Amino acid sequence: MLKAPKNIGKIIKLLKKEIRQFKEPIATEIGEKTKDPFLVLISCIMSLRTLKLSKKQIEKAIFPVGFYPTKAKYIIETCKILIEKYDGEVPDNEEELLQLPGIGRKCMGIVMCYGFGKNSHIPTDTHVHKLANRLGWVKTKTPEKTEIALTKTIPRKYWHDLNNLLVAHGQNVCVPVSPFCSKCAISKYCPKIGVKKSR
Ligand code: SF4
Repeated sequence: MLKAPKNIGKIIKLLKKEIRQFKEPIATEIGEKTKDPFLVLISCIMSLRTLKLSKKQIEKAIFPVGFYPTKAKYIIETCKILIEKYDGEVPDNEEELLQLPGIGRKCMGIVMCYGFGKNSHIPTDTHVHKLANRLGWVKTKTPEKTEIALTKTIPRKYWHDLNNLLVAHGQNVCVPVSPFCSKCAISKYCPKIGVKKSR
């Protein structure tokens, strides 16, 4: 483990307080409310770039989320595999989750953290990637590289919460174009790397 980012403990504490006013990312909310890895898995597939049902019914149910034919296909295939191979349970390990249709590293990490409540991964999407770079925690070009770099420097006790905190912060304050630095709870700890314009 490399040296932890400066003030990481304070930053996490401030973000926890700040995000209370925002709506939680959907997979986290479902995980916290239901503690059901299956629902977290399905919500993750549905929110990709957003049961015994027919493809038509699933398509109808997820129509508002967009890209429904592909997502319906992933959901049906995933359910089939879970029933045939895992007795209807969601596997709780990285290798098997990554083999399910449509499940990439981010969804796998979300299911592990918010479905199974584990401290085993840092699910890294574009928000986590962008923020970790703006905060100077990593200097990376892709979410995949960011995930690897973060797991080397962020103390494990923060892994579980990191995605939830950075996604909520990234959706509401540290938005991609012109972030709201003037009302950001962690502004004094942020070097604002790469931020050309802010509000
Ligand atoms: S100070 Fe600005 S760039 Fe840094 S985390 Fe806050 S909103 Fe993002």
